[in-house]
Amino acid sequence: MSSAADTLTETPLGGPTLPQERRLVTSIPGPRSQELLDRKADAVAAGVGHTAPVHAVAAGGGVIVDADGNSLIDLGSGIAVTTIGNAHPKVVAAVQAQVAQFTHTCFMIAPYDSYVSVAEALNRITPGDHAKKSALFNSGAEAVENAVKIARKYTGKQAVVAFDHGYHGRTNLTMALTAKSMPYKSGFGPFASEIYRAPLSYPYRDGLDGGLAAKKAISMIEKQVGADNLAAIIIEPIQGEGGFIVPADGFLPALVEWCRANDVVFIADEIQTGFARTGEMFASDLFGIVPDLITTAKGIAGGLPLAAVTGRAEIMDASHAGGLGGTYGGNPIACAAALAAIDVFENDGMLERAREIETILKGRLKDLQAADPRVGDVRGHGAMIAAEFVDPATGEPDAALTAAVAKASIAQGVIVLTCGTYGNVIRFLPPLSITDDLLHEGMDVVAAALAAA
Ligand SMILES: *Cc1c(COP(=O)(O)O)cnc(C)c1O
Repeated sequence: MSSAADTLTETPLGGPTLPQERRLVTSIPGPRSQELLDRKADAVAAGVGHTAPVHAVAAGGGVIVDADGNSLIDLGSGIAVTTIGNAHPKVVAAVQAQVAQFTHTCFMIAPYDSYVSVAEALNRITPGDHAKKSALFNSGAEAVENAVKIARKYTGKQAVVAFDHGYHGRTNLTMALTAKSMPYKSGFGPFASEIYRAPLSYPYRDGLDGGLAAKKAISMIEKQVGADNLAAIIIEPIQGEGGFIVPADGFLPALVEWCRANDVVFIADEIQTGFARTGEMFASDLFGIVPDLITTAKGIAGGLPLAAVTGRAEIMDASHAGGLGGTYGGNPIACAAALAAIDVFENDGMLERAREIETILKGRLKDLQAADPRVGDVRGHGAMIAAEFVDPATGEPDAALTAAVAKASIAQGVIVLTCGTYGNVIRFLPPLSITDDLLHEGMDVVAAALAAA
């Protein structure tokens, strides 16, 4: 056991009180982390994987501290969740106050203020100034399931179109909506019926402008599904797991327009892109679209589990009473956290910070790209930026290189996540609370890992 680890207090305080530094006092994983990983292997189902082989004990600002006393730079935010920073003081205070007041009544049994306040806030900050309503759930997948239920009830139609490279969750219906087989679907069928897949705009690989890409998708929808049968199309305005794919300008507006003309509900899945992540409160704002329904989760509550469907009041009200809900949906502690987080998003300069991070990350990655043809594409918005790695000779995706760079970065104390249908994308999702210095140091490590790979 290293001496630095022994100087750790029993329960190091998280949040911004943690020293903002990369500090390696053991190899990764250190002995205490390895002990937890061994217990995990024995006790936790093998299907639940992990990216960084660490035993986390505290996190805040831009770092995660492990049980061996290592401090890792966090460029993943627990998959875009701790956008305002881990254990943000306003979230901690709100949670502590609420947990001492009451922990649960079930909103469907005895309603409470914080749920209604979250709904009001979501109705206010989501795109469009039409009358809106919201319903709260526990996870992103559950929100997506409910958005589909609502759209079907409202339209009286059944089919749903999702897109190539789309990711919408791991429950049965959302597996059907998700594109990628391994690891999300393989062996888990049969999947829900009446789900169809349309081609996405993927400028780096299809070379199409937004209008042409939309025409292709709409033609497929009209010929293979038919607007008369179609309840909804669901799309991530910028794809998350699928590879941080930013559609060409004009693609999303053309889809929205077609939906309006054909009584089809347009659902924007903003579970990963929402809440300041892209430098706008919602990615739909980047593209000037107003979705009929929007699903949110991840960044919504500073790390507590909460999700929502928000949308046009007449659509949201289509369900009979008792048709929507769930025992824990809109739990009061999660709602208190969300109100604190939304306050931070709106009042503490989060949109500006996301744009500053975009400038730093894009600058660093474009420098890498200029010097190394294996960096095929650099894309994204705000603090949601990715690099796609390719074989320079053929342009083919290079998943092995991507995995090697990510693994080496983590071993050097920088947590990065990969994504993409072809597994050849490294995505950068730092908390907005990260310092510029840490962000640069993290990118130094990634650049060195790439040079060595
Ligand atoms: C993460 C994610 C989901 C699923 O959310 P869970 O909370 O993991 O169920 C759905 N859609 C998108 C775009 C996501 O990024």
